[in-house]
Amino acid sequence: MEKMMLKKQATGRIRSGYPLLVKGDFVKEPKVAEGTLVELIDSQQKFVAHGYLATQNKGDGWVLSILPNQPINQKFYEGLFHEAEANRAALKADDETTAYRFFNGEGDGLGGLTIDYYADYYVFSWYSVGIYQHQKMILEAFKKAVPSRKGIYQKFRYDTKGATYDSHIFGETAPEPLIVVENGIQYATYLDDGLMTGIFLDQREVREAIREKYSVGKTILNTFSYTGAFSVAAAMGGALETTSVDLANRSLPKTQEQFSVNGIDPATQKIIVMDVFDYFKYAARKELSFDTIVVDPPSFARSKKKTFSVAKDYSQLLEEVIAITNPNGVIVASTNAANVTMEKFEGMIKKAFVNQNSQFEWLESYQLPSDFKLNPQFPEGSYLKVWILRKK
Ligand code: SAH
Repeated sequence: MEKMMLKKQATGRIRSGYPLLVKGDFVKEPKVAEGTLVELIDSQQKFVAHGYLATQNKGDGWVLSILPNQPINQKFYEGLFHEAEANRAALKADDETTAYRFFNGEGDGLGGLTIDYYADYYVFSWYSVGIYQHQKMILEAFKKAVPSRKGIYQKFRYDTKGATYDSHIFGETAPEPLIVVENGIQYATYLDDGLMTGIFLDQREVREAIREKYSVGKTILNTFSYTGAFSVAAAMGGALETTSVDLANRSLPKTQEQFSVNGIDPATQKIIVMDVFDYFKYAARKELSFDTIVVDPPSFARSKKKTFSVAKDYSQLLEEVIAITNPNGVIVASTNAANVTMEKFEGMIKKAFVNQNSQFEWLESYQLPSDFKLNPQFPEGSYLKVWILRKK
């Protein structure tokens, strides 16, 4: 195995459990193929960790084990999957929830791979050419460790440079839609339809909070609504009426479908295909306002007129939301922008209320649920930030 010497600081960091490797960690810049397994050593040539190299949006590789005698082979991966499954035993036993994250990259000991569970199907997401070099062994390990499953799908979260791969890679193909349940609510998902499946599993607890606490008898506005999952949760929680707004044409049939599968006539709900910034103007003109507003934009978005980024524009977006929230109304402010810390996010919230001359109260906050397991040494993995606020 290739040995690579680490600089002093990186040595300390990795010995204490930090999982990410970056080029600057190495005494000599690595020039090896993507996916190469390496033995990391200190300046005394002593073992520090096993790892693999892979260029991806975060860093240049991941640590696999800090145990010197741990061979990196099929058994190693089987062990990770057994542990991952044991960690989700409560979710697995819960018949009311059949979709969740089964394996969360570095949080479960293997950066560069996530696996989501959808009603007996598993969806692998590969984050680099490097990890994909190990696809065969990892899949074999998975099949051995998790023998009860209907089928396996895969997605690529890196630039495959035009190369195409099958999305369905093992077992049965899933029905379309594949109906999953989450806290008893049904969601229509599609496992072979691009990167997104119809539901963002990391928002499970927020959907539940909206249904349980912020919906009954309320008017709800769901901005950047995608397939309307938050709207469905609100309607199931007894909302008077939901309004879902998304720019994408596909959001209309997708949202109608999410209501229908729960026995709600979509005609009783408002589903609007429109840029949310245009919708805010429309709402102001029509003097519309809402009791609960959900705002969960993409980290970056380019529309015909402008580019939006959470880091730069969230505060202003929130100002528009505050302006059409009823007194005592609730705002569910969410972002998955990894480059925005909780402190910065809270700062943007405060600024928006100050600019609107409006008072508010912090009600509760959410971060990733426990199935999106984190490595405690790598808080950067905690990308989801949600604050629920009451406008005074
Ligand atoms: N909040 C959703 C997920 C949002 S995904 C949920 O939890 O289910 C981001 C969505 O924002 C996409 O559906 C995209 O079409 C939409 N979008 C991006 N820019 C937009 C804009 N300017 N106006 C309305 N929708 C937009």
